[in-house]
Amino acid sequence: MILIKNAQEIEAMRRSGKILSSIMHEVGKKIAPGVNTLELDKLASELVFSNGGRAVFKGYGEKNNPYPASICASLNSEIVHGIPSAEKIIKVGDLVKIDMGIEIDGLITDMARTFEVGAVTSVARCLMDATREALNEGIGKIKAGARLSEYSRAVEDYVKVRGFSVVRDLVGHGVGRELHEDPQIPNYVWKQKDIILQEGMTLALEPMINEGTHYIKILADQWTYATKDGKLSAHFEDTVVVRKGGCEILTR
Ligand code: MG
Repeated sequence: MILIKNAQEIEAMRRSGKILSSIMHEVGKKIAPGVNTLELDKLASELVFSNGGRAVFKGYGEKNNPYPASICASLNSEIVHGIPSAEKIIKVGDLVKIDMGIEIDGLITDMARTFEVGAVTSVARCLMDATREALNEGIGKIKAGARLSEYSRAVEDYVKVRGFSVVRDLVGHGVGRELHEDPQIPNYVWKQKDIILQEGMTLALEPMINEGTHYIKILADQWTYATKDGKLSAHFEDTVVVRKGGCEILTR
């Protein structure tokens, strides 16, 4: 069931999104060669706490292997859910993907950005730019009365002609009262039943785009997803609320 948010809930999500995007900005500023991803997690945790929020990724998942950190920090061929670690030291040429969800006043927003570290290869730059722009193309299709597949098609088309591939096994999702709500939001055109978007739906849109194959694998920590061929991946995510004639982006 897709939850429609009322004006009060949307206002809380607006606050949540604003704080989340300011934290993402601060974490982004700290990304530099020699910094490890656990330091980024520590900074994010402190900022969420000082803003009176809760990092919703921490403790998420199965009881025997809950997610241990406030952010996901995925490097290069890692797609999403990279666990911050003192051993993961950022170097020049890396693509660093930071994903974070926070709860403020009971409402959750979710957001991810890809950061380049110093001079990256031209393919890394193209992949990052294509992923960001694919999300923008998709967001341009979101409005009350539109089909969800219009979003998916816009993302997939933008990426395909540039020679990159859309991750299929991981998708976006509804968000707000819970971190993961209905509907699932593929970044490619799928065969299942389509959805008509309604005003007040709140969606986490998050294309994960690979340089090579769309196939993925899970690493030994049972969290980190990486590309099967070891090539690069990029990820951008924003939380939006569906409106008449368009949508409002809550995490910028
Ligand atoms: Mg998400």
